[in-house]
Amino acid sequence: MKASTGEKCPKSGNWVCTKCKQVHRMDAGETMPPCSKCNHTEFKLS
Ligand SMILES: [Zn+2]
Repeated sequence: MKASTGEKCPKSGNWVCTKCKQVHRMDAGETMPPCSKCNHTEFKLS
């Protein structure tokens, strides 16, 4: 499962930046932020 910055998080869990692998704990319905480490905009569910 993938999500991008600005989208609503589709599922609670640990979302991993596809660029730097930084993990972001997100809850469903939250707006996905840019990566806190590298500012990348794509994440996948770990
Ligand atoms: Zn990153």
